[in-house]
Amino acid sequence: MTEQATQHEQVVIIGSGPAGLTAAIYTGRAALHPLVISGWEPGGQLTTTTDVENYPGFPEGIMGPEMMEKFRLQAERFGTRFLHGAVSKVDFETGPPHRLFLDSGEEITCDTLIITTGSAARWLGLPSEDLYKGWGVSACATCDGAFFKDEHIFVVGGGDSAMEEGTYLTKFGKKVTIVHRRDELRASKIMQERAFNNPKVEFAWNSEVAEIIGKQEGFQKKVTGIRLRDTQTGEINEFDCGAVFIAIGHTPNSEPFRGHLEMDENGYILVEPGSTRTNVAGVFAAGDIVDHVYQQAITASGMGCMAAIDAERFLAAQD
Ligand code: NAP
Repeated sequence: MTEQATQHEQVVIIGSGPAGLTAAIYTGRAALHPLVISGWEPGGQLTTTTDVENYPGFPEGIMGPEMMEKFRLQAERFGTRFLHGAVSKVDFETGPPHRLFLDSGEEITCDTLIITTGSAARWLGLPSEDLYKGWGVSACATCDGAFFKDEHIFVVGGGDSAMEEGTYLTKFGKKVTIVHRRDELRASKIMQERAFNNPKVEFAWNSEVAEIIGKQEGFQKKVTGIRLRDTQTGEINEFDCGAVFIAIGHTPNSEPFRGHLEMDENGYILVEPGSTRTNVAGVFAAGDIVDHVYQQAITASGMGCMAAIDAERFLAAQD
């Protein structure tokens, strides 16, 4: 039996959000024929967003999925190839070339690697949240909001995501209650104002979710209510509702690189200040997998561009 040759690439980009696709556009234009391993959410988190109004160049705003489709087409125009799948394991011990193991069982080696795997929505960790996930409990208003027309909807969190999701969900729900564990929001002033000024939004301050209540009818489940605990008095109050959206931040998708790259205590990959270089030669990281501060499409794109230039210079220095 002949052994199959391992696929070798000059540039592999893991992730296909703004950082990954910008890195693809730049390395593509540099004639480096990048391969993008797109992950299980091609286009990244923006594909679960509605209007993007703060990305320069779109004065009327643009829908997140449409924007990512444009990024993808632009990357393809310069020779980017896409592979649907995810990297489950890496080996940087002997490289470059570095070894990547996909969950399909394939192995790919590469001279340079750009990691743009972003981050994933965080959950509360309650058994009842788990029980009704997909049946009225969601972390994506854009994906699921339309299912809850005229319902009372609860949104958990006090950051920009909670304000954005809460405001957006008033398009569908008769009322939206934002549940926050403190009496002060973390969200930016403009997002707070938008939520405060929306007559369909109200707040449950100093409150946390004790339990999500629902019922099962045959194969189907349905959220019917929520129990909130007052964080100061411990008092529990129950409310009827049709859905609970969790918007409490994100966790970096860095698991396959744990133990192979330097990370901070939360799992964000560390890069040299002012660059996208990790502690491993030829491995670069960009976007939300590195940046837990700004986390914007435009900043992720900017870092994707930096990573492409860093990778290009690294390759040039090897010649
Ligand atoms: P975030 O800023 O980290 O806020 C998370 C919120 O969830 C905080 O209010 C936090 O409460 C709360 N929280 C965390 N864990 C919790 C738990 N276990 N139980 C209850 N509450 C919990 O996350 P984010 O809102 O997703 O925003 C992330 C970044 O993206 C930010 O930089 C934000 O500006 C940006 N963003 C921007 C936009 C926009 O401009 N359109 C939209 C979305 C996100 P505490 O406040 O008490 O810690």
